[in-house]
Amino acid sequence: MQKKILCVGAGFSGSIIARELADKINAQVDVIDIRDHIGGNCYTEVDKKTGITVHKYGPHIFHTNNIDTWNYINRFSEFKNFSLRVKAKTYKGIYSLPINLLTINQFFGKTFFTKDAEEFIKSQAVSGIQEPANFEEQALKFIGKELYEAFFYGYTKKQWGVEPKLLPASILKRLPVRFNYDDNYYYDLYSGMPSNGYTQIFENLLDHPNISIQLNTPFEKSMIKYYDHIFYSGKLDDFYNYKFGELSYRTVYWENQYDKGDFVGNCVLNFCEENIPYTRIIEHKYFEYWKNFEDTIISKEFSREAVRDELPFYPKRLPDDLKKLEKYQHLAYKEDKVTFVGRLGTYRYLDMNVVIEEAIEIAKRYCEGI
Ligand code: UDP
Repeated sequence: MQKKILCVGAGFSGSIIARELADKINAQVDVIDIRDHIGGNCYTEVDKKTGITVHKYGPHIFHTNNIDTWNYINRFSEFKNFSLRVKAKTYKGIYSLPINLLTINQFFGKTFFTKDAEEFIKSQAVSGIQEPANFEEQALKFIGKELYEAFFYGYTKKQWGVEPKLLPASILKRLPVRFNYDDNYYYDLYSGMPSNGYTQIFENLLDHPNISIQLNTPFEKSMIKYYDHIFYSGKLDDFYNYKFGELSYRTVYWENQYDKGDFVGNCVLNFCEENIPYTRIIEHKYFEYWKNFEDTIISKEFSREAVRDELPFYPKRLPDDLKKLEKYQHLAYKEDKVTFVGRLGTYRYLDMNVVIEEAIEIAKRYCEGI
């Protein structure tokens, strides 16, 4: 019997599971999304005035070390090589980020080679921190007070809305410190930008005779009975009607602005000072370096606490959230017809490549289990 599947959410989780199940077991898949477009937060659209592809929900740079993931995504779009090189404005000037040898030399007015810089940064580290218990301790232990205050304190407070000492150390561990001149934001072997924007990837993923898409469609519990299985990439707490309280998220919003020519001169410029209200400026034309545009469109990115029906972006995972999460997970494990997937369904801070790998794996396990 042909399986009937519902994928809630047309981001990477829902779209990949839909495609895999349609391809592998000839399932009939309905994909619903509450928004009026596919692609979730990866959605891009061409700005009418400038012709520039705009990353509507913040910059997305695809990167992975896994050749299978890279090959998989390349089936659905052509990619151009793209390495993310971020610049960061601090009270002292504009530097290269992640912190690397150029950043260290310029920031401290030095001409260090690698080993001198390693020694110097060690001497900056705040002593007496054995196992860093939070973001701030992690920073003080590995880069010291001056770099922490210039690059991380203000930015992190703006992005997360709490003192960095209340955040887990794992957030800072996302960013490397390098004692060479490698200024690529990611270590990964494969890093690229889809030649025609991200939305096309989703159009191609969902372009299958067994898949039907319904936009502007919220999930309702009453839908469950019509399907053999549901893959749910919405908010976990929402699914359970917030019975154990809300899991906290930060939301992000943007103010767009046009200009002639160029504006900041880079795809991303971070603003690390606390008194500048936005966290970064995104200049979208730099994600399409292979095209020429006369004008520019930039987005100033702001962050604030997400209230219940606002778009959730960053799961905060504060201790109180983790307690609630455990209770929700307990219920989720017991569901036999529903699998919770993706960033919102599992309340984790995930990069695209991880979401894709997990979605492929989840679809595979479902196919093997039937
Ligand atoms: N961060 C910071 N200053 C910067 C860039 C990042 O303090 O200029 C901190 C911030 O707390 C952020 C974390 O480092 O959440 C990890 O950075 P990443 O670039 O991975 O965050 P993303 O933008 O991918 O969420």
